[in-house]
Amino acid sequence: MSDDTYEVYAVRYAHHDRRSPENFIGGDPHDVLQPLDYYVWAIVGAAGTYVIDTGFDAAMAKRRNRELLKPIGEGLKAIGIDPDKVENVIVSHLHYDHTGNYDLFPRARYHLQDGEMAYATGRYMCHAHIRVPFEVDDVLAMVRKVFDGRVIFHDGADEIAPGLTVHRIGGHSKGLQSVRVMTRRGPVVLAADALHLYQHLDEGRVFPITYHVGEVLEGYQTILRLAGSRHHIVPGHDPKVLVEYPPARSGLEGWVVRLDADPKTARA
Ligand SMILES: [Zn+2]
Ligand SMILES: [Zn+2]
Repeated sequence: MSDDTYEVYAVRYAHHDRRSPENFIGGDPHDVLQPLDYYVWAIVGAAGTYVIDTGFDAAMAKRRNRELLKPIGEGLKAIGIDPDKVENVIVSHLHYDHTGNYDLFPRARYHLQDGEMAYATGRYMCHAHIRVPFEVDDVLAMVRKVFDGRVIFHDGADEIAPGLTVHRIGGHSKGLQSVRVMTRRGPVVLAADALHLYQHLDEGRVFPITYHVGEVLEGYQTILRLAGSRHHIVPGHDPKVLVEYPPARSGLEGWVVRLDADPKTARA
């Protein structure tokens, strides 16, 4: 592994069974079962270990009627990452399924876009419709981290470490950022919720929770450009990620997969 390439992992922690009309603006004429999986991601390289997003815990799973499969701490430990020692967490956006478990990383600094904090604490939160995917305690926990000097703000594209950059995409949440990371197979883009399912990208469709539809669609072009190909984009909630990529090691099938390995469809 050269100095500026990284190992990249997706760690599944939760699941939600739902029908396809729930996943698209305008619904879906096929009305089939189309569940979502919930992930955090980990990037490991010479520059250090970076955890992308912090998931939600058992209490939030119950409150939101989601199925917690394995707490994120267990998933990270399964690949040798001790949450107590993690120094950098990149937060894609402040929705409840990306920014819970806020006491799990006591030593971490949190990387966040200016625009996301402004969005989550500003005028738009006066609207119940826009508040739906946010939890006030998650937002307050991040505000506390600001006052503790533990948040590093980014505005647009920024370098976190050599070969590791964040990119403001917006759209789904106003200050949403995706992560681009250099690997042995070239750049990989962890889209997070800039792209929920491969199908959104392939068919130019949009997930219903959206701040700005135009930014979502433009965002697909941006992540394609950053990734270089569809095979280098990792959607944020697609169960297919677990099929496309090999387990991090035997025993972790369906739980932790290796994203710096070639996806199955690229090998076919
Ligand atoms: Zn989201
Ligand atoms: Zn999400």
